[in-house]
Amino acid sequence: MVTLSGPEEAALAAIDEAADGLRALSLDIHSHPELGYEEVRAHGVLSEFLEGAGFSVERSAHGLETSFRAVSGSGGAVVAALCEYDALPALGHACGHNLIAAAGVAVGLGLRAGLEASGEAGTVLVLGAPAEERGGAGKVRLIEAGAFEGLDAAVMLHPGMGDHVRGSSLAHRGLEVVFRGRASHAAGAPWMGVNALDAMVLGFASLGLLRQQLHPTHRVHGVITHGGDSPNIIPERTEARLLVRAPTREEVDVLRGRVLACFSGAAEQSGCELEATWAEFPYENLVQNGSLADAYAEQFEVLGGEMQPPRMGGSTDMGNVSQVLPGLHPHFRIPSEGGNHTRPFTDAAATAEAHEAMLRAAKALCLASLRVYSDADFRSEVRRGFEEPGGVE
Ligand SMILES: [Zn+2]
Ligand SMILES: [Zn+2]
Repeated sequence: MVTLSGPEEAALAAIDEAADGLRALSLDIHSHPELGYEEVRAHGVLSEFLEGAGFSVERSAHGLETSFRAVSGSGGAVVAALCEYDALPALGHACGHNLIAAAGVAVGLGLRAGLEASGEAGTVLVLGAPAEERGGAGKVRLIEAGAFEGLDAAVMLHPGMGDHVRGSSLAHRGLEVVFRGRASHAAGAPWMGVNALDAMVLGFASLGLLRQQLHPTHRVHGVITHGGDSPNIIPERTEARLLVRAPTREEVDVLRGRVLACFSGAAEQSGCELEATWAEFPYENLVQNGSLADAYAEQFEVLGGEMQPPRMGGSTDMGNVSQVLPGLHPHFRIPSEGGNHTRPFTDAAATAEAHEAMLRAAKALCLASLRVYSDADFRSEVRRGFEEPGGVE
């Protein structure tokens, strides 16, 4: 039997007391899906909720309209609990970021209550991190704006198909491809045209062939966002958006050359002009802080959960955060017929079971984070793990 300290008990009680309010908050965000940098409603309801809970909230923080910075306490150690709240086009909250938002608030409320009960100095941040999906790189902009300076750790949770804390994420770089040809009448004078759709089809066909030669952990995928204007006109302009992913940024950089060759070859074959633009901000792979991960896993199991082996999933700009300060980004399982970015997952993200799973994970993350304030040895262990190569995984 594990006995909790007074501050730990106060932290868990605060999360339990807020459970219904957090559920309402999560469902509000879920039923009003907003894309990255357009999360105006989520930004509003989260800011209001945190103000109501006694945080002092700066809206549109760090130069981003839909970011917020909620602060409680002062001095001492500083831990930031991150909220994401952007949705996906067509599918709504198919990545469950409504649960991430509620989890970030839950961790913040718990830490605030725990610190108050301990009477120690400490600063709790709840940071609104917009635009994680689709290479939006909200957290990279927050890093550049100094949002993470002076912090001891940044933590967040993500719903998925398993309960794990040691998994990394793929680095990635976005690519926008535009082909320019020449329009002509598709029946009257097709020989006068230069077909930009041919170029795009050739590019994607080459990518398909390239895939056989890729390492199993590498991913290249994309969509054609403009394929022409009318069937009776030889397309003069086509556009696509792609993501190139691999376990590290170095591998992504090697892969980028091979992907680009598919499209430059297609330009050559079709006689089109190619304009290829790489995304301004690459996503780095996630480095889970070892000490925080162990503390989380321990608390998660005390709370009745069972940790599972890590899975490789997608990419996250939390990867970038985890490379500039100690970070933790555990996944918690919500019951769903399909994984992230599927319609069943959108439905699952609104269920009572998902909410309960989120609350348990938030409690574990809160107790693990509380140690950063209360235990100076643990705090320096977390720092060491971040600074020493091999001290993290
Ligand atoms: Zn996602
Ligand atoms: Zn996500």
